[in-house]
Amino acid sequence: LKTINLSKVYGKDENKVHALKDININVEKGEFLAIVGPSGSGKSTLLHLLGGLDKPTEGTVEIDGVDIYKLSEDKLAIYRRRNIGFVFQQYNLIPVLNVRENIEMPVRLDKKIPDKEYIDDLIEFLGLTERQRHLPNQLSGGQQQRVAIGRALAAKPSIILADEPTGNLDTKTTGEVMNLIKSSIKKYNQTLVLITHNENIAQSADRILSIVDGEIR
Ligand code: ADP
Ligand code: ADP
Repeated sequence: LKTINLSKVYGKDENKVHALKDININVEKGEFLAIVGPSGSGKSTLLHLLGGLDKPTEGTVEIDGVDIYKLSEDKLAIYRRRNIGFVFQQYNLIPVLNVRENIEMPVRLDKKIPDKEYIDDLIEFLGLTERQRHLPNQLSGGQQQRVAIGRALAAKPSIILADEPTGNLDTKTTGEVMNLIKSSIKKYNQTLVLITHNENIAQSADRILSIVDGEIR
């Protein structure tokens, strides 16, 4: 996963914000990269661009040698669904779908039948077997985030992009959720890029990238 002279400018004229300035990073397969930096420094913008959720102003992102911003909108959407798992601070679960249905969602969106055995294992791995028929509002915050992680892992992505995934969780639950994410990347040799304000989490990464005012420091 790499960026090439990646820049992002929001707005124009007096509203112009240079959110990212000429970022060149290279994340190896299986690497855990933590992104740290003050609020408003460009971390979320970088994560969104790494995942093809937005368009760069200049430069691009390559995944396995594929320039993702050269793909058509449709192809990029498919690429994203199959290769990238997103986890955000807000769990963004669908309230009318139960735990299992939320987790299977990306696979169904891809018009595929979920692999029952894999989903069973995943739900077990997440510690949600007893809860799989429950709705999101019947779960604690930590459980809801585990569902969101399950949804991110359902399509067996090679890359996980996480924006403050433990931002709403207490210390104990933070540890549990991070252990889950870390054991997933080990098990499936996934690349993890994770934004965090938590010093302990950052220190547990393979590498820390510090961003200030849209630049790597
Ligand atoms: P963080 O928790 O990373 O500091 P923010 O709360 O600053 O994130 O922003 C969350 C999201 O809201 C951003 O990723 C971006 O998409 C959007 N956003 C942030 N700032 C602005 C802005 N000035 N105008 C419009 N959208 C914004
Ligand atoms: P961080 O995640 O480090 O808090 P962001 O990437 O959310 O930073 O934001 C970087 C800068 O870009 C901030 O100044 C923010 O206000 C601005 N920004 C983010 N998203 C938008 C947006 N959609 N429109 C305008 N400005 C934005």
